[in-house]
Amino acid sequence: METRHCQTDPLCPDKEIIKQAAEILKNGGLVAFPTETVYGLGANGLDTSACRRIYEAKGRPSDNPLILHISQISELQPIVREITPVAQKLMDAFWPGPLTIIFPKSDLVPLGATGGLDTVAVRFPSHPLAMALIRESALPIAAPSANSSGKPSPTRASHVAYDLDGKIDMILDGGPVEWGLESTIVDACSDTAVLLRPGAITKEMLEEAVGTVEVDPAIIGKPSDDLVPKAPGMKYTHYSPKADVTLVSGEPACVLKTINRLCAEAKEKGLSVGVMATEETKQDYVADQVLSLGSEANLEEIGANLFKTLRKFDFLGIDVVYSQVFPESGEGMAIMNRLRKAAGYHIIQAEEKGE
Ligand code: AMP
Ligand code: MG
Repeated sequence: METRHCQTDPLCPDKEIIKQAAEILKNGGLVAFPTETVYGLGANGLDTSACRRIYEAKGRPSDNPLILHISQISELQPIVREITPVAQKLMDAFWPGPLTIIFPKSDLVPLGATGGLDTVAVRFPSHPLAMALIRESALPIAAPSANSSGKPSPTRASHVAYDLDGKIDMILDGGPVEWGLESTIVDACSDTAVLLRPGAITKEMLEEAVGTVEVDPAIIGKPSDDLVPKAPGMKYTHYSPKADVTLVSGEPACVLKTINRLCAEAKEKGLSVGVMATEETKQDYVADQVLSLGSEANLEEIGANLFKTLRKFDFLGIDVVYSQVFPESGEGMAIMNRLRKAAGYHIIQAEEKGE
């Protein structure tokens, strides 16, 4: 299949291009498009065979449910059975924006979109191009991240093309995304909100809107093998580059020494070595490739650059990557959640004493 590439202004998308993309969606095809979080791979969320095409193109396990995207609140009612008070508060506070809410699903939504679950994940994105496309198609658009399953999510159209060229109908290129990490996911089916995936809307922001927020244990630790996926992003290894990633935690000076020792040992074995650093630490590392995620004072910047940097190590043919860890609060919770997965939960404690 030939994939059409169309570039358009993200803030003021070309009407003709949007029309053509919406036509593809209405006919059961696949269109990748930017949102404020990452690029999504869109299909008609009410059409089982269109959803099946998403799973095929991504190589995604069929029990990993999709998020349905809407472009106005009135599009929610038909696809959900109930809007709890907690869900309403979350919608009022954060929609449109980078928050996905889980609702009990209505009969309109096929099980093929929800991985067999009787709940449905819904997001109302704020990106003008995403909004225009959803509105023009007049459908709830199922859109997981537009990457091959298991690879880091795409933050640029070129990442989508690298993974999915020839497997999907169209890529809408609206430039780099704003956040660079996938949406926060909250289960709002009962009285208490449960955080299933951390993202740009932080736990602290959620608490301000709804009071108590429970955190699903899988966010912090490694999920058990027999986990029934509530949020299957939790079950599968995600975001993995080809390189082996190891996280090193501890005092900054000790982390630095440990990583430099590990780099030297890996080099001796003939491996090509990378370090994921920050603006503050990049000059202190000795490795084949030292890539900075941004300033430690700006966790948003670090989040925005994380997936791009993981992909760059792959592009550069790096075998092993070492990275420091980040604080677990605010945006740091989402960064650490993705980093742990990229590392396959391989985290070691720095041992050496700093200078
Ligand atoms: P992505 O692949 O980044 O679009 O993320 C989709 C993720 O949304 C899935 O991997 C799940 O973690 C989550 N999700 C979607 N639907 C549901 C649902 N009904 N219940 C819980 N989590 C869901
Ligand atoms: Mg994904």
